[in-house]
Amino acid sequence: MNLIIFGPPGAGKGTQADFIVKKFNLYQLSTGELLRKEIRNNTNLGNRISSIISTGSLVSDDIVKKLVEIFISDEKYKNRLIFDGYPRNLTQVETLKNLLNKYEQKIDLVLKLSVSLETIKKRISERQNLEKRADDQEETAIKRYKTYEKSTEPVIEYYKKLNILKVIDGERSIDQINKEISDIINLI
Ligand code: AMP
Repeated sequence: MNLIIFGPPGAGKGTQADFIVKKFNLYQLSTGELLRKEIRNNTNLGNRISSIISTGSLVSDDIVKKLVEIFISDEKYKNRLIFDGYPRNLTQVETLKNLLNKYEQKIDLVLKLSVSLETIKKRISERQNLEKRADDQEETAIKRYKTYEKSTEPVIEYYKKLNILKVIDGERSIDQINKEISDIINLI
């Protein structure tokens, strides 16, 4: 089984992805993490993309495609991938479909963790020291949330039409969310 996980910053996507990885013996393929690793390791690619990443723009679809193909083509990860941070636009959706076809795989499930902006704001204020740049941090978080929702909308719509999208209410406790996700995966 291959799946994709979506969720705005602060929705607990990392926690849920960790849980699914362990419970179902999957591998989390985070394109953001792969790209950051290239930068940390000072590779040619890393040097080329570091300024793009630092401004928050998207790296070219081709670069991401090459990184993703390394995993999709590897028998070790066959039908065991959780895509995180990918696909980010409709071109990447198409690329992912073609790559999976090429290696005789598909996406079985798309999870979207849904959390309201109000909840995200509340979580930030609970987590942070209120005296320290709390307004700034809240503003940045709101911006990131809105950008995220807007940019993922067409991608989410695409999977919704394929009937493989499950929207998970991310406002509940971690355990409740874990359980719902497990139940969904167990039915596949
Ligand atoms: P993330 O950790 O998913 O927020 O990604 C961090 C940064 O890596 C993003 O701001 C982009 O610059 C780059 N990135 C990650 N995933 C992708 C992707 N699928 N397509 C293009 N750029 C990406």
